[in-house]
Amino acid sequence: MENVLVEDVLHRFLLERAGVRGALVRLGPAWREVATRIDYPVTLRSLLGEALVASALLTANIKLDGELSVQLKSVGALRLLFTECTDQGRLRGLARWDAPLPEPLSLDELPQAVMAITIGNVERGQRYQGLVELRAVNLAGVLENYFARSEQLPARLLLAADGEHAVGLMLQKLPDEGGHGAVQDDDAWTRVMHLTATLGAAELLATEPDQLLYRLYHEESVRLFDPRPLAFGCSCSRERVAAMLRSLGREEVETTLVEQGGRIEVHCEFCAQCYEFDRIDAEQLLRGVGGVSGTA
Ligand SMILES: [Zn+2]
Repeated sequence: MENVLVEDVLHRFLLERAGVRGALVRLGPAWREVATRIDYPVTLRSLLGEALVASALLTANIKLDGELSVQLKSVGALRLLFTECTDQGRLRGLARWDAPLPEPLSLDELPQAVMAITIGNVERGQRYQGLVELRAVNLAGVLENYFARSEQLPARLLLAADGEHAVGLMLQKLPDEGGHGAVQDDDAWTRVMHLTATLGAAELLATEPDQLLYRLYHEESVRLFDPRPLAFGCSCSRERVAAMLRSLGREEVETTLVEQGGRIEVHCEFCAQCYEFDRIDAEQLLRGVGGVSGTA
């Protein structure tokens, strides 16, 4: 194979004959960075992998300036799941849970669960948040409903993750007169759905992107766009940790200083980077005077 971009990459494509646009994300090393950071139960690890892939897939057809995140909160055993993809293709994610998790982990049965997709730019404070109804068992089904509601176009998603790879395929029917240069016929979407239905999770995980697309859709004239590289990456910074501490307030910061023997250590849960603040740093950041330099 000459194509070296087979892992940690987003492929956008058009099925020209059918008038369907799509994206295929295949994660290897980037997923393993996230998956192995915490010893996740297998069911939760799968869901986290699917959500990480989904956050990348959802950036495929939007003009992103900042980050796109998928966040799920519940009062049950699965407390939090968060994944993010930036406009630079940097991915991160984590989940928090209380053992034991229900088996299977059905999204429509999580108690008081709320899911949101947030698109925005943290630095500039601009954010758009869409709530996602959890009316399907799995994440792919939940997101298909979300697309049907928010974009009023049929969409199909396949998501799968194991310990090695996390892979996702997204298909969207284009509007009938979209100026997208694709020729549509009446049963094109149905035909593409039939082809897609032959794809199981094992094949999705095991097959390289260009082979997969050719195998499924070679009769639909696949047009592949330039692939976008993805990678694990964290957007944490000393400035952001300082802002978080400032938001806790003086009392909390001073209590923590006393408890931790005159310094505050903050570990990033996504990338394990450690940020340390001594009394002088803490005083500076509480006064809001550029107090973010110093021990790094
Ligand atoms: Zn970090």
